[in-house]
Amino acid sequence: MISEIGWRLIDALIPNSCLHCEERASRSHLPLCRPCQELLDLLDPTMRCRLCFQLNVAASGLCLACLNLHPPFAGVAAALSYEGPARALLRAFKYNKFVPLAKGLSAFMVAQFARLHWPYPDLVVPVPQSRLKRVIRGFNQSELLARHLALSLSVPHSRILKRRSKGPAQMGLDREERRNLPPGSFALKWRRQVEGATLLLIDDAATTGTTLLRAAEALQEGHPMAIYALTLCRTERVN
Ligand SMILES: [Zn+2]
Ligand SMILES: [Zn+2]
Repeated sequence: MISEIGWRLIDALIPNSCLHCEERASRSHLPLCRPCQELLDLLDPTMRCRLCFQLNVAASGLCLACLNLHPPFAGVAAALSYEGPARALLRAFKYNKFVPLAKGLSAFMVAQFARLHWPYPDLVVPVPQSRLKRVIRGFNQSELLARHLALSLSVPHSRILKRRSKGPAQMGLDREERRNLPPGSFALKWRRQVEGATLLLIDDAATTGTTLLRAAEALQEGHPMAIYALTLCRTERVN
């Protein structure tokens, strides 16, 4: 048994505060205090559009935008809302390079996947990063999440997409327009694994959904059977 004085000494030597509220973290796989851990609730898929995970759906299970636009997905979902402790964890993972968090964070995606009743994917595909970001950060957070999720589901994962830094579609666009990812921002590296396959696209966060859409458009070139997309977090859009 470690005494209270012992724990205080350990805490002084190894900082062990909650990433969200800076209270003392409980000793578990996530660096959060217990009340903050309890705030990590999976988003309820039953209230959301099947094809973009937006709230406010019609009786068809789709939002008005998806009814009109027919996005190239069989399903889109996120595990957590990008706020509070989930936001703190994702930021620590991504910007403070807290890489060991990948396993704990992917567990939320695995739990959400189990509630979605989607078919098991033939292949898990991470959304790629620009080369510059990868060099600056040293890792691709979506790739780490995809790897852990694929391991948990016992399915293969592959980096079959690449980001086009200056593709023909991006010539003549300013920085803001490039950030909005025009069509052609991603390219499919190998078609062999994609044809007739059920794909699960993985990203760390979704805001407008444009990144997932562009990635799915590139995957479609390989004629998959179906494309599903799952993100760890989701920023709610205000309509
Ligand atoms: Zn806390
Ligand atoms: Zn929708």
